[in-house]
Amino acid sequence: MLEIVAIIALSLANSKAAKARGRSGGVAVAYTIALWVGLEIVGSLIGGLFVSRSGEIYIIYAAAVLFAVIGAIISVVISRRGAVLENPVQLQAQPYYGAPQSQPVIPQQQYAPPAAQVAQPAQSKSCVHCGAPITEEGAFCTACGKQLVG
Ligand SMILES: [Zn+2]
Repeated sequence: MLEIVAIIALSLANSKAAKARGRSGGVAVAYTIALWVGLEIVGSLIGGLFVSRSGEIYIIYAAAVLFAVIGAIISVVISRRGAVLENPVQLQAQPYYGAPQSQPVIPQQQYAPPAAQVAQPAQSKSCVHCGAPITEEGAFCTACGKQLVG
C-alpha cells in the first residue's frame, strides 16, 4: 500500500516536471509507473535466481525494491531532462492579475443640430471680384477696393 502511494507521488512529481518543460504530464505518469513496476518485476525475477541458490526469500524483495528505485530514478531523470520553459502551458490558465482593461472612454457627442437647422451666417458675403470676405457694410471691397454689387 505504501508503495502505491509512493508511485502516485512520484508520478505527480514527474508529471509536474514534464509539464513545466512543455511535455505531456500523462506520458510522464505512464513511463513512471512502467519503469517502477517493470524494473521491480525484473528485480524480483533476478532476485529469484539467487534465492534458488541461497534459499533466502528476502533477496527477492531487496532486488525488487532496488530495481524499483532504479526505475524511479530513471523516470525522474527523464522528466527533468531539458530546460524549464519560460512560459509553461499551465501558466496561461492563471488569472490575469494586471489592471483591468478599462473601456475606452467615448466622449458623449455634444448635441449638434442637423445641418439643415444650422442657420447660415447671414452676413457671409464675399467680394465678387476678389473673393475676400466682406466684414463691413460698404459700397466698396476693403480688400480690392472695387465696387460691390448690391
Ligand atoms: Zn474685392
